[in-house]
Amino acid sequence: MTEPLLRVKDLKKHFSIRGGVFNREVDRVYAVDGVSFDLKAGETLGVVGESGCGKSTTGRCILRLIEPSGGEVWFEGKDVNALNGPDLMALRRDMQIIFQDPFASLNPRMTVGGIIGEALVIHKLANSQQEYEDRIVELLETVGLNADHMRRYPHEFSGGQRQRIGIARALAVSPKLIVCDEPVSALDVSIQAQVINLLEDLQEKFSLTYMFIAHDLSVVEHISDRVAVMYLGRIVEIASAHDLYTSPLHPYTEALLSAVPIPDPSLRRERIRLQGDVPSPIHPPSGCHFHTRCPIRQLPLCSTESPTLKQGEDGHWVACHLRG
Ligand code: SF4
Repeated sequence: MTEPLLRVKDLKKHFSIRGGVFNREVDRVYAVDGVSFDLKAGETLGVVGESGCGKSTTGRCILRLIEPSGGEVWFEGKDVNALNGPDLMALRRDMQIIFQDPFASLNPRMTVGGIIGEALVIHKLANSQQEYEDRIVELLETVGLNADHMRRYPHEFSGGQRQRIGIARALAVSPKLIVCDEPVSALDVSIQAQVINLLEDLQEKFSLTYMFIAHDLSVVEHISDRVAVMYLGRIVEIASAHDLYTSPLHPYTEALLSAVPIPDPSLRRERIRLQGDVPSPIHPPSGCHFHTRCPIRQLPLCSTESPTLKQGEDGHWVACHLRG
């Protein structure tokens, strides 16, 4: 069996809340609380969950944009958390991120050429001014923009075009893995499909591997090979996209899926409305984190014992005492 490109084992990120006269830790946010998965080269893993479930924090910990509190991240057999200096710099070339908000993630005072070319300078990837400019033009054309755009500023572009600039910036260093952190959430629906199609084309062209984060299952359906569903810092289900959409096992996945519109008006899916909001990750519910909202919970089992992620048929994993 070939080694996965990325292996994440029991990843944790807990943020301290400090207060009082001595600025001691008074509480803790359990943003990511034991996340494990593998990602094969060329694969797209969709990661879905409501706001605050820890999906973006997971992505940032993998890239070491924030330091994890525990667990392991292995990339091409290298322990990411142990890398420093030039090795960490090399890793930053191999792993890139596309941010959610194309308005906030581009420096408004830099030209588009400067934004895309910054990484070429940092990683010394151009030997001359001509090579630098040629590469920027090549990247702009790769994402459907043109050479004239390199001297303009981000405010002169639409949301979809800005996201294309963000994608060109990520591609500049020829990465292997891209964490797409809700790359289409801020865009109009008509533009979302264009950006997703572009990402699919680029994946094929450059053999890219994606971790594609979204809050909505409908967004990741077509681009993902597998999908992981997160709830309050943990993965509750992970399966091939086909299995997850056709035979979900976790009640939370069922509820998320029930909200996805079906294109065929003759088919109807009964909407499952969950009670209440997602609880705070500061004091997550005991046992199964989902038990306060679960329509099929069994007490006291679900409120006292935390279900582990168990593997069922065909690599379909679920964390539920009653399913799988
Ligand atoms: Fe619901 Fe219990 Fe399963 Fe959690 S473990 S999802 S509360 S049935």
